[in-house]
Amino acid sequence: MMEGGSEFGIEDLPLRRTLESSVGRVHVLEAGLQRLDGGAMFGVVPKPLWERRIPADDRNRIPLAMRCLLVELPQALVLVDTGAGNKEDEKFRQIYGLENAGTPTRLEDAIRDAGFSPDDVSVVVNTHLHFDHAGGDTVRLPDGEIAPAFPRARYVVQRGEWEFAHRNNERIRASYLPLNFDPVANAGLFDFVDGETELLPGLRLIPTPGHTPHHQSVLIGAGDGAIFFLADLIPTAAHLPLPWIMGYDLEPLVTLETKRWALDRARDERWLLVFEHDPVRPWGRLDPAEKRPVLLPAEA
Ligand SMILES: [Zn+2]
Repeated sequence: MMEGGSEFGIEDLPLRRTLESSVGRVHVLEAGLQRLDGGAMFGVVPKPLWERRIPADDRNRIPLAMRCLLVELPQALVLVDTGAGNKEDEKFRQIYGLENAGTPTRLEDAIRDAGFSPDDVSVVVNTHLHFDHAGGDTVRLPDGEIAPAFPRARYVVQRGEWEFAHRNNERIRASYLPLNFDPVANAGLFDFVDGETELLPGLRLIPTPGHTPHHQSVLIGAGDGAIFFLADLIPTAAHLPLPWIMGYDLEPLVTLETKRWALDRARDERWLLVFEHDPVRPWGRLDPAEKRPVLLPAEA
């Protein structure tokens, strides 16, 4: 439970924390904060229920992390999602309550805190192409030019998500900003995958549709000790109950079935679940004794 959502600030999120997985170290990076309408974040759930989990500010917005993973595999340094980046103007930053400044972004500061630079990143995985997940794929350079933020990396997304992001219909347009990803493709750095893919030994991309039709999550390692990066399938720990589904989701009934599958498997295989947007609980494991999805108390 969190007190005073309006007072929650970026200083409440540690820049980097490090987990050990069965296949290598996993740095949990905080790329910044955004603030989104609490009602939209909780869909059909009434405010008296959700505001007990994450309190809203005076504009009804709740604070949300933009958490990314940096995975040290023997074959590659893999970044999963890239936060919101530094290209948007002041009006945009006000609307979404963005706090992610650094040198040039808080994500880059976090990568350096882990002992690396953007040039060291060899693979960037996008769970999907919404601006709070792929905004940091590109960077505005001091001369104003927009360039890939990780120029030595191959970028990977589901082919269906790429095509969907370019449909440009009225319902999805505000979330897919071409400057976040088209310059990467123009530089020839994007690779597309179709369905479940073992991208590297120990790193598996798993389609988890519902939020968008080709949204994917990332499984690092296997069995006990595996880490599952949920992305927007279950954005915060408050979204663990099956019907707590975001109003933003394009196919909520698909999300429902994807959650049912993922939570069953996470409980059976004791996966550590990482929540991309939870402001206070970055990860947790399901209690195997509970039929409902309930997290075990946080480990010290
Ligand atoms: Zn998101």
